[in-house]
Amino acid sequence: MDKKTVLITGGAGFIGSHLCDRFVAEGFKVLCMDNLITGSMDNIKHLMNDNNFRFIEHNVSKFIDLGEDVHFVMHFASPASPDDYLKFPIPTLKVGSLGTHNVLGLAKEKKARFMLASTSEVYGDPLVHPQPESYWGHVNPVGVRGCYDEAKRFSEAITMAYHRMHKVDTRIVRIFNTYGPRMRMHDGRVVPNFIYQALNNKPLTVYGKGRQTRSFCYVSDLVEGIFRLLFAKTNDPVNLGNPNEFTIMQLAKLLIKQTGTKSKIVYKPLPQDDPRQRQPDILLAKKLLKWKPLIELEEGLNTTIGYFRDLGGK
Ligand code: UDP
Repeated sequence: MDKKTVLITGGAGFIGSHLCDRFVAEGFKVLCMDNLITGSMDNIKHLMNDNNFRFIEHNVSKFIDLGEDVHFVMHFASPASPDDYLKFPIPTLKVGSLGTHNVLGLAKEKKARFMLASTSEVYGDPLVHPQPESYWGHVNPVGVRGCYDEAKRFSEAITMAYHRMHKVDTRIVRIFNTYGPRMRMHDGRVVPNFIYQALNNKPLTVYGKGRQTRSFCYVSDLVEGIFRLLFAKTNDPVNLGNPNEFTIMQLAKLLIKQTGTKSKIVYKPLPQDDPRQRQPDILLAKKLLKWKPLIELEEGLNTTIGYFRDLGGK
């Protein structure tokens, strides 16, 4: 049987590159598309000589022209760190609007199944806790995170419109905080920030009082859930994440312990619209996908610390 082809936008990014690995391992032909604004060739260099892998440098916010058949389109291109939204607010809005429109058009043309990488940010600073898929969210459209949150909310809306109007077979995954190897050490997110600081004996920068919570999912658990969702029968959004919830202060203390650093904690101002709490309700994913996260935070952090150590901690 001929191999099926999957297009992965953002394929040189953190989650995208792990998806490239998974689809190549599962016997797919992988087209990895990235404009490298936040992605990196380092994440995919081990795949470059594989006959079933091709890298295409392209900005998906511009028209996408592909001659070959495509059976699956995974739209994972977007800056994904609050620091990056500050640096690239317009590319973030464009990739979640024009980019999503382009990849949906491609999926329609190729009769491909489509998956949108959405986010827990569609829930904003949530007033319902934990967050089920049925919650509509509490988002500030004009705040500094609005460029990401609203682009993803638009992405969900246009994905459903293409499903309803053009019968594109779509999936929407709402991804909660995910961490692991291939995050950029300086992307500004809390896990790489703290690990970098700990490995270099610099103070860990806790924003606010560190009482805000997040629930951290190790990347291999997420990839397993995404793979199952692609082949499950639903067009409705599905949360994927690890429901074990920690305060940022707990995370800082855990990393100080796990790295054995001499670092202390310093407090910095809480960024605007920083969600106070976040925990996925994953009942739907458990039922539909027979999935649950397996990697505990300590174990996942150990692997991630090892990855950053191997890079020289810089
Ligand atoms: N944070 C922190 N110190 C840092 C970076 C982040 O205390 O050096 C906090 C941030 O204020 C937020 C949480 O950690 O409450 C998670 O931030 P991140 O940027 O990883 O992603 P978010 O979940 O906010 O999108």
